[in-house]
Amino acid sequence: MTDRLDIVPVSEWGFFTLPKPMVIAGPCSAESEEQVMETARGLNDLGIHVFRAGIWKPRTHPGSFEGVGSKGLPWLKKVQEELGMKVSCEVASRDHVYESLKYGVDMLWIGARTTANPFLVQEIADALQGADVPVLVKNPVNPDLDLWIGALERLNRVGIKKLGVIHRGFTSFEKIQYRNNPGWRIAVEMRTLQPDIPFFADPSHMGGDKKYLYELSQMAMDLGLDGIMIESHCNPSVALSDAKQQVTPTELKGLLDQIIVREHQSDDSAFNENLASLRTRIDLIDEDLLKLLSSRMAVSRSIGEFKKANNVAIIQTSRWDNVLKNMIAKGEEFGLPKEFVKTIFNAIHEASVQAQNEIMDRDA
Ligand code: PEP
Ligand code: MN
Repeated sequence: MTDRLDIVPVSEWGFFTLPKPMVIAGPCSAESEEQVMETARGLNDLGIHVFRAGIWKPRTHPGSFEGVGSKGLPWLKKVQEELGMKVSCEVASRDHVYESLKYGVDMLWIGARTTANPFLVQEIADALQGADVPVLVKNPVNPDLDLWIGALERLNRVGIKKLGVIHRGFTSFEKIQYRNNPGWRIAVEMRTLQPDIPFFADPSHMGGDKKYLYELSQMAMDLGLDGIMIESHCNPSVALSDAKQQVTPTELKGLLDQIIVREHQSDDSAFNENLASLRTRIDLIDEDLLKLLSSRMAVSRSIGEFKKANNVAIIQTSRWDNVLKNMIAKGEEFGLPKEFVKTIFNAIHEASVQAQNEIMDRDA
């Protein structure tokens, strides 16, 4: 069980003035002073005051646009000074940290490819020692919750307490609808383990196409996440990176107007009573499920004893294939998704085999 991180609440960062969702927006990459300023002005006019722009870009293939580097940092400073916005960029090394802090970047984020590398995260954390800058940590490219939490712990250990996370989904070998597999379950686990940490979704990188921004942003809100980081460019069609997924500030306004924010709780007493009674029903059903599983396990153990007495192996594959097929078909009649039934019964089978194994291995 992971310890809770020592977090400064986001309300004390002095960053987000808008009601939820908290929004961080800006281009994938800073490309020129004009592009940065025009995009920032458009966003600022919408009431979005936290700007993002990649200065150093981690690209999959060499030869792609790798960011303008440190020469873009004065442009971010100009956004701060002329528009009063907070500015943020990605850091992937000690030097990026030093350069960003030297130019007074207000907030940093660690990209998905970097979170996956504990050496780099540690190097970044060491470079941040003594700094009071908020750091957002994207999930690692692979769905490894521990690696994600480990990165937060490394930062927390050097005294970074203004910590947040960004869920941007996971690399998938299979071709899927989105650029990344959303893997929302891992976001939910993170929220459960670290309920205090400000939680952003990144529908731009998750979807990889602006046509998915609405559904993914709404999903993030439905799950009760706190904010979104969205890529916005004054002229997406000529963007040097991630052109397809970027929207103009005006398009972003349309999107934000459409999104419905869900409250964490409600003051409506009728709603709360109803919810409480539904939850009681769920608790009772869960208890029944446990009782049933325990009876099933008892029968399974008897079968184990019986097989042992008759010197028969635990697994008869054809039997299990039949059970699974049967359960999937029955599950469908009950309106239960195939994958769900498969996962549950495979888990039950595994526990059952293990119990029988213990019986077989017992002496006498
Ligand atoms: C980015 O935010 O520009 C970026 C590179 O994202 P990710 O690390 O999620 O791929
Ligand atoms: Mn990008």
